[in-house]
Amino acid sequence: MLNLINQITNQKITPISFGRKPITIGNLSGLKEDVFVKTAKTTSKTVQTKIADFEYKKRICKDIGLSCVSVDKLDSIVGPNELTKIVSKNNNNRAFYIPGEKPSGMEDVQDSYFLENVLNGEFGASFHNHTIHSDGKLTVVELLDQATEYADIRHSKTGKPFYLGITDHNTIEGCKEAVKIIAANPEKYKNLKVVLGSEITVKEEKINNVKLNKSRKLHILTLGLNPFDKDLNSFISFLTATVNKTKINYSHFINKNMYKNNPMRPKTISLEYLVDRLSNQKDLKFSFAHPDYPDIRKDISEEQDPYNAIEKIIHFFKKTTQNKGLYTESYYNAYFDDVALDKKMHQTIEDATNKTHLSKAGAIDTHGDNIFYTGINK
Ligand SMILES: [Zn+2]
Ligand SMILES: [Zn+2]
Repeated sequence: MLNLINQITNQKITPISFGRKPITIGNLSGLKEDVFVKTAKTTSKTVQTKIADFEYKKRICKDIGLSCVSVDKLDSIVGPNELTKIVSKNNNNRAFYIPGEKPSGMEDVQDSYFLENVLNGEFGASFHNHTIHSDGKLTVVELLDQATEYADIRHSKTGKPFYLGITDHNTIEGCKEAVKIIAANPEKYKNLKVVLGSEITVKEEKINNVKLNKSRKLHILTLGLNPFDKDLNSFISFLTATVNKTKINYSHFINKNMYKNNPMRPKTISLEYLVDRLSNQKDLKFSFAHPDYPDIRKDISEEQDPYNAIEKIIHFFKKTTQNKGLYTESYYNAYFDDVALDKKMHQTIEDATNKTHLSKAGAIDTHGDNIFYTGINK
């Protein structure tokens, strides 16, 4: 743990080594929570609603060309029921979603956590993270390795797994890679639970009665997707197909095919279009990433109340996604500067989330090389 403590003290943003080998658990106790898979194994043909997770994994297995007799190889992939259950169970558990509180006086600084929730193993889920498939720095292997190292430690302290989301901007390529890696070596990832997702950009010209002085970008997390689904892939291809190749810096992309499909320059679509277009993806849930990023004050006219505007936008999210709307990122640590300091705004987001019967959840939204820090360059 020495390295970790040094890193906390020095606020370095480098991959954490915990300074000891991953702990061998010895049996599969970490998987006992996965009641849906267990149910599916024992009562396979009957309880349709309870086996949704089993069916989800079975579809992934089939689409990837794995044997579908058993979905054990995908025990670490989180199905829609498990996701909903975990989110609702931890609705009021802020520590579950954040690595630690920022020291007083440093609330406006990015990547300055005490990491106390990491040290005690309470940090349980980070549903929103980026890899080199969009604008992150970690490869999928590195992301999974770091998360697994922590998951093993968390499991040894609490008996519980660690939940990790892969949500690159407007692409699902990282999710495909993750499924293949996990299916090839499921034992290694037994304490890790991976949520397959994407962070889709939508743009709104008008949001109910919030007067925008320019269109507002919303980042929508689509969680519990099947990255091998044909129709989902054709939607992503449409979204990221680009004709303008000249003005973009591609240096961080891992392969040149992204010249043709650029996740950082998606087509302009609305939330209504997104929800409608993906209505055939039955397992998919929509969540509202960082409701106040970009700072709402930049998009509304001066005479408007920003708190009231955020509240209305959360209502708009719920109204548009309806029963597929899962949570807002009420526990979001990557805000910086004025937004990070605006306690009233954070409270407004929590209150509006409660009022609309969405859940409160959160994530690190890492773009850097460490799962406990945001690594966003301002
Ligand atoms: Zn975002
Ligand atoms: Zn993000």
